[in-house]
Amino acid sequence: MEFLALTLFPELFRPFWEIGIVGRAAEKGIIRGRAVDIRSFAAGRHKVVDDRPYGGGCGMVMQPDPLDKALNEARARLPQALTVLLTPQGKRFSQQMAETLAGAAKDMILVCGRYEGVDQRVIDRHVDLEISIGDYVLTGGEPAAMVVIDAVTRLLPGALGNKASAASDSFSQDLLEHAQYTRPADWQGEAVPEVLLSGHHGQIEKWRRSHALATTLLKRPDLLRGRKLGPEEIRLLENWRIEIERILDAQPVRGPDPSPGGG
Ligand code: SAM
Repeated sequence: MEFLALTLFPELFRPFWEIGIVGRAAEKGIIRGRAVDIRSFAAGRHKVVDDRPYGGGCGMVMQPDPLDKALNEARARLPQALTVLLTPQGKRFSQQMAETLAGAAKDMILVCGRYEGVDQRVIDRHVDLEISIGDYVLTGGEPAAMVVIDAVTRLLPGALGNKASAASDSFSQDLLEHAQYTRPADWQGEAVPEVLLSGHHGQIEKWRRSHALATTLLKRPDLLRGRKLGPEEIRLLENWRIEIERILDAQPVRGPDPSPGGG
């Protein structure tokens, strides 16, 4: 799968293509990453790529011509590619979208905006999909493009050492992941949950499932509300309910929270 980022700052991508999972995926030939300088398509001695917005207002807008030329060349090179514009106005990026893009395994051309954004006419002509990485405004689309490339790459076959690892990650099943521990088993008097040291795979799996459900309930209950639970998951949540009831029953006073907004 090839990623071609169109940017005014290609040097931002240099370490990105070389380090970690993305770097290894590139080494193994699972992905190919390139950043192309939009400015190299600008005319004139000064290679200007931006101008003031029509109608007035602050800031500058990326001119259509250099980007159009860059996109024509990119699309000639990758004729089947999906052309994506990174923009805060786009569809919100999610694990599900990453899975769809990785599953399609289509090459991607990623347009990184700067300044106040890109002239609408070049968007209308070339862009298949607008992606936002969240409801905030960055100074440029490069970090957003890296977010998309990173999340998609780690889902491509062979990119992660262990295939199961992506399947249990947060959001992959509309659940957050369980807590993780590593050596030492006793760190400054704090022990790792015993079951994880038992070597009993069935028990470990059950603990992980149960703690993934509890973590999701505490941190992102909205994920559980929109989700159909399996019978095993219902049993595991029931166990937490019984545990909570037990703790509450042992309290001398029980009742609703009297503070403003309390239950
Ligand atoms: N004036 C634009 C607006 O209000 O929609 C924001 C422009 S922003 C300062 C410059 C560039 O950063 C955008 O063209 C886009 O490429 C990128 N960008 C900013 N926030 C982003 C986000 N949340 N997701 C994806 N890209 C973003």
